[in-house]
Amino acid sequence: MKPRKIPQRKCIVCQHTLTKKEMVRVVRTPEGAVEVDVTGKKNGRGAYLCGKMEGFLQAKKTKAFDRALKVSMTPEDYERLEQDFNAIQARYATINCGRNTAHES
Ligand SMILES: [Zn+2]
Repeated sequence: MKPRKIPQRKCIVCQHTLTKKEMVRVVRTPEGAVEVDVTGKKNGRGAYLCGKMEGFLQAKKTKAFDRALKVSMTPEDYERLEQDFNAIQARYATINCGRNTAHES
């Protein structure tokens, strides 16, 4: 029995590969705004990360979004994203992004 192929994405923070469903998509819209994409269907360049606030904070600290989305984000952009992220992170409570990464690679 072959498992069905499920689309997977790599977390820009911890580099773990998870299914799209387990990850939060952040998208740079054609207008140049960066936002959390809850539907996963918005147009634009996307980056994925585990749905953990810890992971988000690490991305903020290391400017992982700037690199992944090839954009220069202002502190206000991060502030807004953080609020959006905070609102949805409860859905992803089982994932431990930002943890257990130091001794795994
Ligand atoms: Zn992660």
